[in-house]
Amino acid sequence: MTARRKFLKTSAWLTAASPMSSLSLISNQHDAGTFQEPMRDVPIIKDTDVIVCGGGPAGVAAAIRSARSGAKTTLIEMYGCLGGVWTVGLLSNIIDYQDKPGIMKELVNKLNANNAQYSAKVYDAELMKLLLDEMCVEAGVEIRFHTRVVAAYRNKTNRLEHIITESFSGREAWKANIFIDATGNGELSAQAGCGFQMGHPETGKTQPGSLMAILTGLDQDRIVNEGFTGRRGYATEEGKKAFWKEIKRAGNKASYTMPTLFTIRPGLVAMMANHQYGMSATNAHDITKATIEGRKEINQITNRLRDLGGVWKDVRIVATGAQIGIREGRRIKGRYTLTADDLMQGARFEDAVCRVNFNVDVHSLDKKSGGAYGTHSVRAKPYDIPLRSLIAADVDGLMMAGRCISGDFFAHASYRVTGNAVAMGEAAGQVAAQAVATHKLPHEITYLP
Ligand SMILES: Cc1cc2nc3c(=O)[nH]c(=O)nc-3n(C[C@H](O)[C@H](O)[C@H](O)COP(=O)(O)OP(=O)(O)OC[C@H]3O[C@@H](n4cnc5c(N)ncnc54)[C@H](O)[C@@H]3O)c2cc1C
Repeated sequence: MTARRKFLKTSAWLTAASPMSSLSLISNQHDAGTFQEPMRDVPIIKDTDVIVCGGGPAGVAAAIRSARSGAKTTLIEMYGCLGGVWTVGLLSNIIDYQDKPGIMKELVNKLNANNAQYSAKVYDAELMKLLLDEMCVEAGVEIRFHTRVVAAYRNKTNRLEHIITESFSGREAWKANIFIDATGNGELSAQAGCGFQMGHPETGKTQPGSLMAILTGLDQDRIVNEGFTGRRGYATEEGKKAFWKEIKRAGNKASYTMPTLFTIRPGLVAMMANHQYGMSATNAHDITKATIEGRKEINQITNRLRDLGGVWKDVRIVATGAQIGIREGRRIKGRYTLTADDLMQGARFEDAVCRVNFNVDVHSLDKKSGGAYGTHSVRAKPYDIPLRSLIAADVDGLMMAGRCISGDFFAHASYRVTGNAVAMGEAAGQVAAQAVATHKLPHEITYLP
């Protein structure tokens, strides 16, 4: 435990202006010099109560809860659908949703009612997109797709007041009372000037990315009976090992040694089969390279499996994620930073917004570490996430939800899964709406679930 505390102390808080803030293993290149962009006026197209940036599991829940609580709410998402890793990333598998009340429970019920899933854990990404659209529209959330937040400005009292976006409509400014950063990578908070940490405290290395794929042509009974996955969509450790051996037998050098098949419904299977190492979430060059390599590896795996015949004889890729799955980005400095110690002690907080039941899950940080995942000797007991970890320490009027909240490397490796992201988003949305209604800042609000 002492060692973990040392980790936290040695991890400095960076800002977007820090020379190492991209933490890329491949350096950012400015070989061609710089260009000074001329100043210009940007139209303020909206002045509203709450703006949520990022429409992933956390952002959707934040926007729905904020709107349902009476705040005029806008949700800004850079892709053309809601869901983030759930949909754009084709994840297809929800972890730590059990015992989560509120929007998570509602969503699982809706998925079941729409036959969008084979078990409560896996889902059809297309139906997920539709349900999230419907839930946001019904709640009165104003959605803006294909719009990326690219800058953020504070006023003289250090309160975040304006953000700038780029979209089909060009460059636009937006004003709000409270902002919620649900961008996964903490993009809004970094742009607003918040401190953040990224990567392992000793090496700065981050967890690898994985490009998800959806497969057809697999007979459900056969992949279960031959031991490559579990029944009713549940993947098993034995199944992952058997699938890895099969991938190797087909002549592949598998970058991920616990590749997984999740059955969404008979005949439709999600595959997580690669690890892209040394990829920084804040470096577009790294992400591009990882995407190209990941797509190549997944296609090779699938084609070579098909060549094996047998259960694989008709396997084909239907789609790969439009965005490679990024496990880890910035962890924004909040009013409380969750640590490995909190996880090991099963911490309880008076301002708890969510109980996490998932253990620490660190995927190999580099190729030579084995290619699987583990706990790094941090054994978590069910623990609480306090509201303070969702409130930015350096900038007022700004909250975080999802994987960019304030926590150390090990805590993030546990709370990052989507059941928790939804619960955090829901709490952030409610607190934001309460803050608007009472003319207070989020840290002055008592959270009432
Ligand atoms: C490969 C992989 C496998 C995983 N496996 C599981 C699993 O099996 N089960 C599970 O529950 N969790 C799993 N996770 C973890 C989980 O998916 C994420 O931690 C979770 O999605 C976090 O939710 P979020 O809403 O914080 O972020 P995200 O899902 O990343 O959503 C962020 C959203 O913000 C948008 N955005 C980003 N920047 C901007 C910007 N500047 N302007 C506008 N919009 C922006 C993005 O497009 C995205 O829609 C996995 C993650 C990965 C990458």
